[in-house]
Amino acid sequence: MIPEKMKSVVMTSPRAVELHEYAVPELTENGVLIQIKSAAICTIDQRPYAGVTKGFFPRVGGHEGAGVVIATGKNVVNTKVGDHVTVGRIHCGVCENCIKGRGHCLNAPDFGGPGGEKPSIEKPQNLFGSFSQYIVRNENEFFHIPETLNFSHAALAEPLSDVVHSIRRSRLALGETCVIIGAGIMGILHAQVARNIGARVIVSEVDAARRDRVAEFADYVVNPKETDPREFVKSLTGGRGSDVVFFAIAVSSMFEQAYSMLAETGRIMVYSNQHPDDPFGLRLGQIHRSEFEIIGTSGSLDLDFVNAVELMSFGKMNMEKVIHGEYPITKCKEAFDQSIVPGTYRVVIKMDEE
Ligand SMILES: [Zn+2]
Ligand SMILES: [Zn+2]
Repeated sequence: MIPEKMKSVVMTSPRAVELHEYAVPELTENGVLIQIKSAAICTIDQRPYAGVTKGFFPRVGGHEGAGVVIATGKNVVNTKVGDHVTVGRIHCGVCENCIKGRGHCLNAPDFGGPGGEKPSIEKPQNLFGSFSQYIVRNENEFFHIPETLNFSHAALAEPLSDVVHSIRRSRLALGETCVIIGAGIMGILHAQVARNIGARVIVSEVDAARRDRVAEFADYVVNPKETDPREFVKSLTGGRGSDVVFFAIAVSSMFEQAYSMLAETGRIMVYSNQHPDDPFGLRLGQIHRSEFEIIGTSGSLDLDFVNAVELMSFGKMNMEKVIHGEYPITKCKEAFDQSIVPGTYRVVIKMDEE
């Protein structure tokens, strides 16, 4: 049965979220109606809440979610009522970038921009993000998950898919050594996926609690305040350096250190978004001689999503390690406040629990 009304978690200004009631979105011919069970608070949602980036309020947002299919449109062929799904990225599937598998859909809606109608409480920005109890998605915008997979874990398919994308772009291979700078959520997920690939994993992290948290997924964990990670990596690799370095922190001044750990032909993956995004110097002659590659990575493709779901379904990931806690929808304010406390891992809102 499709209910008429639903609740949404609405950010009305920095540090303010409220529950508001809306009509359940109408099913489209090509869409399915999903009841969201778990929705995670990503950095993209945390930053306007913390007032770090400019947000357009009121807004709903949320793109990390998982739930159950409640109804299907008449053209839907591959999904039935009761299927468990995780929300994917919104993309058109027909523009040149989509067709060529590049991601970066040219027709993706800009949820962060000022374009279009001014948002209001009646029509908040991105109402049909995963912080609404019901959303409609086309079949190319969600992924099936097994019924045995926990919804809060499955909600993290999106950040995990970004990590799979990063690992894939790095071409990290069996027997290679990689260094992961930072053991935040993305650092821990990188360590787990790199381990699954059969690479040797070194993590550099200043915070003791984070070092403990990542330890079981790494071959070595280094405190860069006590041990120079450059020396450590050199000593492990016969002076060569690391094949791949994942730069998973938002501190651009650390990039130079990360870069200096690379072996010849090494790849450095620029994973984190930077605030502020300060420029820094590079020696082109060194890049030329060493055949270094500096590779940006952002977002993911469908295959990365499928692989992320598979990694979780096959029991290859410990998602509990990247979840701080779960909050019922009525405690959404506490959930958002906790999510911006430095050092917090993912906070999940249980969208159907009062
Ligand atoms: Zn996200
Ligand atoms: Zn597209």
